[in-house]
Amino acid sequence: MASAPSPDVLRAPLVVEFPFTRSLGPVQSAFLTGLRERTVLGVKTTDGRTLVPPVEYDPVTADEIRDLVEVGATGTVTTWAWNHEPRRGQPLAQPFAWVLVQLDGADTALLHALDAPGPDAVRTGMRVRIRWAAERTGAITDIACFEAYEGAAQGGAAGPHDGVFDEPVTGIVAHARLDYVYAPGRAQTAYIKALSDQKTVGERCPSCHKVYVPPRGACPTCGVATTERVEVGPRGTVTTYCIVNIKAKNLDIEVPYVYAHIALDGADLALHSRIAGIPYDQVRMGLRVEPVWTEGARFPDHYRPTGEPDADYDTYKELV
Ligand SMILES: [Zn+2]
Repeated sequence: MASAPSPDVLRAPLVVEFPFTRSLGPVQSAFLTGLRERTVLGVKTTDGRTLVPPVEYDPVTADEIRDLVEVGATGTVTTWAWNHEPRRGQPLAQPFAWVLVQLDGADTALLHALDAPGPDAVRTGMRVRIRWAAERTGAITDIACFEAYEGAAQGGAAGPHDGVFDEPVTGIVAHARLDYVYAPGRAQTAYIKALSDQKTVGERCPSCHKVYVPPRGACPTCGVATTERVEVGPRGTVTTYCIVNIKAKNLDIEVPYVYAHIALDGADLALHSRIAGIPYDQVRMGLRVEPVWTEGARFPDHYRPTGEPDADYDTYKELV
């Protein structure tokens, strides 16, 4: 059951997004290149059905299928749902219908958007046609949307097509994006607020006495709430590490650099951060480190060696 968020618990918008690059096989390449050329291609199954959008393998026999056919740019709505509030990245900015359209000559339906003035203007069985995008690149968005259409069938005569086009599209970049509000809960709120004073706080389990950093509010081993707040660090010990050789997009750090698990003094769980202030090939297990804060930062930029002797393995072996 939803409840009103506590005013003491932080909330903030969080966006996770990344581009996903995939290569296209011969069938998807022909399908998307075809859309760029205002041609819709389906694929024939071994039992003679035409699938649009096409797939590489017969869904019944699992046979590889390659026989492309051109289908119409007009079709029939087989089912639909009204979208009252289009979200970012959807085909149309104003309310529209999601529709399954069986294009003329196809035996399956394609999911897309239908531009309509309202839900009263949409019905199963209505005739529609493709509205092509003005600029086409070889993507499903080359079909801008569908629109109501009462005329004769258009495009493709369900005839074979060799799928050969000039400059075929061989790959696409699909942008994944999760856009939501994150509430870290009571325990992590205290952890984040302490960081603003450049302090690190964990919580101790009343049963096994382990100190968790960052705290999650409960001990995963004992299954009880952790309530005793404990300040740990600021110094700690490198328990394990890796050398990063691949430069991450949007991260202005020269490779190679070291990313390490660091057990802060007093903590029973290691957190992770970058190690700097020492050549990357001299970082080692047991290295004693301290945080380095940059002006206005909300967490340490990195950790650097303190110059103390290395910690004895027995002191952190349970934390590796
Ligand atoms: Zn416990």
